[in-house]
Amino acid sequence: MSIKVEGLTKVYSTQKAIDNISFEAMEGQITGLVGPNGAGKSTTMKILTASLTADGGEAYVGGLNVSDDEMKVKSMVGYLPESNPLYPTMYVKEFLTFIAKIHKLKNASQRIDEVIESVGLTKEKHKKISSLSKGYRQRVGIAQAIIHDPKVLILDEPISGLDPNQIQEIRQLILKLKKNKTIIFSSHILQEVESICDKIIILNDGHIVADDELSHLQKDYSQAIVIEIELLKSMSKNVFQDIDPTINFVKSEGNHYIIEVGSGEDIREAIFDRVVADNNKILSMAMQKKNLENLFKSVTKV
Ligand code: ADP
Repeated sequence: MSIKVEGLTKVYSTQKAIDNISFEAMEGQITGLVGPNGAGKSTTMKILTASLTADGGEAYVGGLNVSDDEMKVKSMVGYLPESNPLYPTMYVKEFLTFIAKIHKLKNASQRIDEVIESVGLTKEKHKKISSLSKGYRQRVGIAQAIIHDPKVLILDEPISGLDPNQIQEIRQLILKLKKNKTIIFSSHILQEVESICDKIIILNDGHIVADDELSHLQKDYSQAIVIEIELLKSMSKNVFQDIDPTINFVKSEGNHYIIEVGSGEDIREAIFDRVVADNNKILSMAMQKKNLENLFKSVTKV
């Protein structure tokens, strides 16, 4: 059961929220959808869950076209929306019973107990949703998404606003669910995306700017380095490129630069000599290995 998106486009009045995007997500994998606010992540997820119709292109879930087989797709997909809409006055078990009824589940009572146990809500099952901490409310959100044992799970920002312990618990829960499922997961916390996802898609301004297996991206990282430099006076980009032609500018604003050195050479000494020769001064210079965070910065131009 995989997901395939071909040339998907969504326009809100005149603004293209997503513009001709194509990607695939595979079964048994967690695909991370990342990007700055407004990049189009939620729009993409809503289309995949048949909650929103696209204006162009096609989305397939398990081989079914989402726009042609809306009801079937909905029954195959579990969705945790970013806002995690729950009924605060309901009790946990009561709420899950209500969701199970919507899905017309057979053996509902057994399944509800199973899900409550698997997401770690056994002690909270008789509590009102409004009395739960954010971490437990997220578990209820995940429980309602998996109650019908969907083959596809779409989780929009499931860890936002959680403390580090809660993040770890939800991470373990998602990893436990990944077997035999196709999971798409969006998050702003890049470290978390790196620790949980098999594949990463970076969206920026409605376009896909990176799409690769995490292991491939990490292989790229292992080569390149990133140097951040602040000078007294600005220096031409060409001068940097004379030092090493594999330089790519992640940021160049006035006297502040973040450069990626594709060759992996530590060129700090050469930069120092060149700056001194130009009668300029280095205010600060720091080097680090390339990682997902600076890849994100370079492709989304933060
Ligand atoms: P993300 O989830 O990456 O933050 P969204 O998919 O929510 O991005 O939004 C993509 C773009 O579409 C944004 O510019 C947002 O303002 C716009 N947008 C989203 N929903 C609506 C809507 N219902 N009406 C108008 N514009 C919208």
